[in-house]
Amino acid sequence: MSDVLTLNLDTEPSLTNFKVRVLLVDDQLIIVEAVRRMLAGEDDIEFHFTTDAREALACANSLQPTVILQDLVMPEVDGFELIRRFRAEEAQAHVPIIVLSAREDPKLKAHGFAVGANDYLVKLPDRLELLARVRYHSNAHINRLQRDQAFRFLRESQQKLAAANVELQKLAALDALTGIANRRRFDENLVLEWQRGQRDKTPLSLLMVDIDCFKHYNDTYGHQAGDLALKKVAAVLTENLKRPADLVTRYGGEEFAIILPETDSDGAMSVAQACQRQLENLKIENTKAAPYGVLTMSVGVHTMVPDKHFNWDELVAAADRALYAAKANGRNNVVKA
Ligand code: GH3
Ligand code: MG
Ligand code: MG
Repeated sequence: MSDVLTLNLDTEPSLTNFKVRVLLVDDQLIIVEAVRRMLAGEDDIEFHFTTDAREALACANSLQPTVILQDLVMPEVDGFELIRRFRAEEAQAHVPIIVLSAREDPKLKAHGFAVGANDYLVKLPDRLELLARVRYHSNAHINRLQRDQAFRFLRESQQKLAAANVELQKLAALDALTGIANRRRFDENLVLEWQRGQRDKTPLSLLMVDIDCFKHYNDTYGHQAGDLALKKVAAVLTENLKRPADLVTRYGGEEFAIILPETDSDGAMSVAQACQRQLENLKIENTKAAPYGVLTMSVGVHTMVPDKHFNWDELVAAADRALYAAKANGRNNVVKA
């Protein structure tokens, strides 16, 4: 078993307040003691060691040193081989390694650097020189960790921001009461579908829907009941749409608009009539709404093949005129412009 001497009990690697954390790997206790004395009393330095090179990797993984001091000649493991193992381990791949060698030999030095060491000291070094090198290499490592952490943090923030933006965009396009698309989405979608219809030369239909005598409904049953009725109408309209590109939106107040791309006048009329009939058949009481006594809707329908000589707001204006005619016609009906 190796001893792991901890002079400072705080071994958690703090990412905001890094400390110089030294791990010495040397089989000779006399060297350990000498290095310990050199580093003792330095408040910014923690000292740890192992005398068993076979445990060096596990020690490093649990301690996360900011610099490793390592002997070259040890009984169980070849020092160069140990450097290679540190370099192959993801968590230790960039931790600075200072070789502590018994010999001042250029070939050993060169080989040490070749397998991944960062520095080379002959035992026993001068105390001031050891402190300077330990601090220099640790600080470089700490700077690298902090930079990596800052980049990680930035990446995570960017990802969170992007996700929040997607969520916001979805919310910004929805009507809070009914949960269907809102007026803003209507405006955007109508322009897009107008352009698509113009490219493909396919008919684009628009249904303007308005609940009949809804003021009476609110006056009779209260605003909360009115809100619930709006949700029911939104559900009726949604249920009658079959194609993915069809879009029902809350145009404002008790008015809804339905965009039906690639849909001719007959198709649009049949969707409008299905919606109008379904609401009537729900028989939601609206006693003051003569002559039906139930909640109903009027729908104006218009279809155009988008063309560069026209504008999409002409489609809206025509559907609106048709809706006005449906109201004038006695309500609870569908009129085509
Ligand atoms: P018409 O048949 O001519 O359309 O008559 P109407 O009463 O439906 O039309 P009017 O424009 O006079 O009144 C619309 C009513 O819709 C008045 C308004 O309070 C109500 N309304 C609009 N938005 C909401 C809402 O979000 N919740 C509730 N509860 N009522 C709403
Ligand atoms: Mg209205
Ligand atoms: Mg109305």
